[in-house]
Amino acid sequence: MSIERIAVVGGGTMGNGIAHVAAQAGKSVRIVDLSGEVLEAAIATIAKNLDRQVRKGVIDVAARDATLARIETSRDLAAGAEGVDLVVEAVPEIPELKYSIFETLDRAASRDTILASNTSSISITEIAARTGRPDKVIGMHFMNPVPVMQLVEVIRGLATSDETTRATVELAAELGKTPVEVNDFPGFVSNRVLMPMINEAIFAVMEGVAKPEAIDTVMKLGMNHPMGPLALADLIGLDTCLNILGVLHRDLGDDRYRPCPLLRKYVAAGWLGRKSGRGFYSYD
Ligand code: NAD
Repeated sequence: MSIERIAVVGGGTMGNGIAHVAAQAGKSVRIVDLSGEVLEAAIATIAKNLDRQVRKGVIDVAARDATLARIETSRDLAAGAEGVDLVVEAVPEIPELKYSIFETLDRAASRDTILASNTSSISITEIAARTGRPDKVIGMHFMNPVPVMQLVEVIRGLATSDETTRATVELAAELGKTPVEVNDFPGFVSNRVLMPMINEAIFAVMEGVAKPEAIDTVMKLGMNHPMGPLALADLIGLDTCLNILGVLHRDLGDDRYRPCPLLRKYVAAGWLGRKSGRGFYSYD
């Protein structure tokens, strides 16, 4: 099954990046968001990022214009899901919101349409169970920033079919990404491995083992990580890290995933990392 028409639900940080790479790969793309302002900002962000690619000589002006011409927008979820081969959902990481969106998508989209979620941690099996097509529901977990990052973690729910998985893997490759197939368990592979490391780094700050700069330097120079865990946590968003650790802790039922109290304190204070101007580091 070849996927040519794609709807992206949610035009925020991840949604506009997914729309960008899909349109650039020649797909026709519809971005669906509740907010007209978000849709305008999404198109402006994609145009700005394409302009940067033109300046760097990665693409020419004609390719930039053709990419933008392949993107349309909609504020209506049901209408937005019509006539597409695949929907990628990228709304906030709130289980009830995702469930209700998948219920609507299931009613509105054609029987053959694949319904994918960009969730970082919510069970694909549980999302799929809200639909009448669990075999066609799959996780397509892009990394931030989408145009730059190579990985797409493809998550098979319990009932996801081989055909759906094959089509999704092929699509990710067509978008210039490297798909990696994993099974549906809390945090999948990416956050199951990453979040305990970030959490441990935060415990090390709380216990006075070292300052954030020192911890990040140890991991960069000693372990060859391009970015230290605390700078990465600030980039991801400390609220997002706390949410994901909450899912790991609850769903795996093991105290080794318990979120560090210092992380809870920062989030309670509104220190969310880069997006709020302050986290483990300060940002102008
Ligand atoms: P975001 O807040 O930047 O964007 C979410 C968008 O969804 C907003 O524009 C909002 O208006 C829209 N939205 C909310 N309710 C909607 C509805 N009912 N219908 C249509 N649109 C609606 O969030 P984000 O950072 O892009 O994250 C989206 C998803 O991607 C989450 O599941 C998150 O866990 C996952 N994710 C995020 C990152 C990251 O680093 N930000 C990385 C990988 C995966």
